[in-house]
Amino acid sequence: MASSSSHAKRRASLADLPKSNVFTSKLPPDPAFATPDISHRAPREALGPRLVKGALYTFVRPEPTEESEILGISRKAMEDLGLKLGEEFTPQFKALVSGNAFYWDDKDGGIYPWAQCYGGWQFGSWAGQLGDGRAISLFEATNPTTNIRYEFQLKGAGRTPYSRFADGKAVLRSSIREFIVSEALSALGVPTTRAISLTLLPRSNVLRERIEPGAIVARFAESWLRIGTFDLLRARGDRDLIRKLATYTAEEVFQGWDALPAAVSLSLDKNQVSDAVDNPPRHVPWDKVQEHQGVQENRFARLYREIARRNAKTVAAWQAYGFMNGVLNTDNTSIFGLSLDYGPFAFMDNFDPQYTPNHDDHLLRYSYRNQPTVIWWNLVRLGESLGELIGAGSKVDDDEFVKDGLTEESALAVYRRAEEIIERTGKEFRTVFLNEYNRLMGSRLGLRSQKDSDFEDLFSEMLDMLEALELDFNHFFRRLSDVSLQDLETEEIRKKMASVFFHAEGFGVIGYSDDSARQRVANWLNKWKHRVIEDWGDCDSERQRFMKNINPKFLPRGWILDEIIERVEQHGDREIIGRVMHMTLNPFNDEWGLNGDEERFCGDVPRSKRAMMCSCSS
Ligand code: AMP
Ligand code: MG
Repeated sequence: MASSSSHAKRRASLADLPKSNVFTSKLPPDPAFATPDISHRAPREALGPRLVKGALYTFVRPEPTEESEILGISRKAMEDLGLKLGEEFTPQFKALVSGNAFYWDDKDGGIYPWAQCYGGWQFGSWAGQLGDGRAISLFEATNPTTNIRYEFQLKGAGRTPYSRFADGKAVLRSSIREFIVSEALSALGVPTTRAISLTLLPRSNVLRERIEPGAIVARFAESWLRIGTFDLLRARGDRDLIRKLATYTAEEVFQGWDALPAAVSLSLDKNQVSDAVDNPPRHVPWDKVQEHQGVQENRFARLYREIARRNAKTVAAWQAYGFMNGVLNTDNTSIFGLSLDYGPFAFMDNFDPQYTPNHDDHLLRYSYRNQPTVIWWNLVRLGESLGELIGAGSKVDDDEFVKDGLTEESALAVYRRAEEIIERTGKEFRTVFLNEYNRLMGSRLGLRSQKDSDFEDLFSEMLDMLEALELDFNHFFRRLSDVSLQDLETEEIRKKMASVFFHAEGFGVIGYSDDSARQRVANWLNKWKHRVIEDWGDCDSERQRFMKNINPKFLPRGWILDEIIERVEQHGDREIIGRVMHMTLNPFNDEWGLNGDEERFCGDVPRSKRAMMCSCSS
């Protein structure tokens, strides 16, 4: 009998996959190419870099490519998009993912491709207009089973008005990295943009520090909107478009206003209110009376909180799995709370909270330990962009406000209220972050219940120990999953077991002897053992299974990605990508039935290849 879930799964051919263009039908295009027709008739070179105002995108087609070879497919991404397996072998699929086809023609119309316009704060400074400089969206597709709608996009598809000084291309090296690692995060259950295919363009010679082969990653996401999309509108004072985009976000990206967090009442504390009352320039502040009575926050405040909550959960997952984005500028921070923009990212090797994989980040702004703070910093920028809308309270739909914005009388109270909402959302962000982080870390340590003391007694000491002894963060959890409590009975055995976590090349950390290192691990193991027994009694094999389903055996670390890149680029190896993708999509397996590299890729990181770094955009 077919199971109901497999029965219910409907997967379509590429041609039958339901497609739409809600983004371009609801939001304003670049006025210079206001319709698909106008854009299509323009020579391709005319769609190069310029400032684009009053718009959220430009209609722009991919640059056709002469020769292409699909090097990799994520079958999981195909499934999640709702595509039938086998479609990846069709000429239509190949044409689509290499930039040679889209769903529009000048007779019948259809869906014309577009590149999004956004700005951003980069390393704490305002960078002005950025935008999709080498990404072009082709259409939206709705998975027929889940009804989730995704925006389907090519990265490396040619220049757009947002390419600034660059070429609109992506090199094979960084495309391999994005293709594999976005799918790795997804397999761990971390919200992320997805990658469905990797296509080599052998004739596209891309100039970086040297000439390199070009490539295209076909990818999709529920939304590609970023905090930077709002930043740019704010910098330009485009309040109508901020309102329009916020409304679009709630109605089309999320599941409508009703699905957002319920309103909480605003309670300006006495000091703030009296301050607002005492120091108005001339008049009594706007709806002071209402504030005293405690009004409810409005729908835009609820939208802001939803975006903050999603990002809190995602950054908590990064911390729990030791993932670093590497460039957490506001243009790389998702409105939907997705891991977004794969540049110099990495999974942690040996635990080092100061580590950043970004070679150019000398101040360690985007290091592991700064990620939660930096995401919040970005969310404050979003709060400022939405400030007038969230601060206007119940007046947000008044005609005068919608048309003319704040008056001198209303401004002060509105700003105060926006500040209060941002501040309170900061507390909510922190709470959601900590809950999610504790939940994931507890699970990774095999706990079924949560106790307040776990953070101090188990997590903190474990992290200090991993750092001091230079132990591998992710291997630690997987190896702990395999440890049986029976092997931790006496101190002597615990000290012996400690070497499970040590690097095979031997232990050599300054300040520790082999014995003192073993002692430290043994002490922690003892505490952990008692805590596990509290939760599991003598069901230790169940506990082990539980832990193995949350602690990956395989993760595509920097050194592995480097090896794959070398094998593909230098030796023409074609199989390695498929094999590693299979491991990536099933990271919790004990084995994958593949020959060769499997165990080596799951073993200790060669010492000279730990904590690698790379540079920003490539
Ligand atoms: P990133 O550092 O990858 O987040 O990129 C910042 C901005 O530069 C984004 O607007 C990108 O689209 C753009 N960009 C990066 N690399 C290229 C490239 N090779 N061609 C065109 N635009 C690029
Ligand atoms: Mg970016």
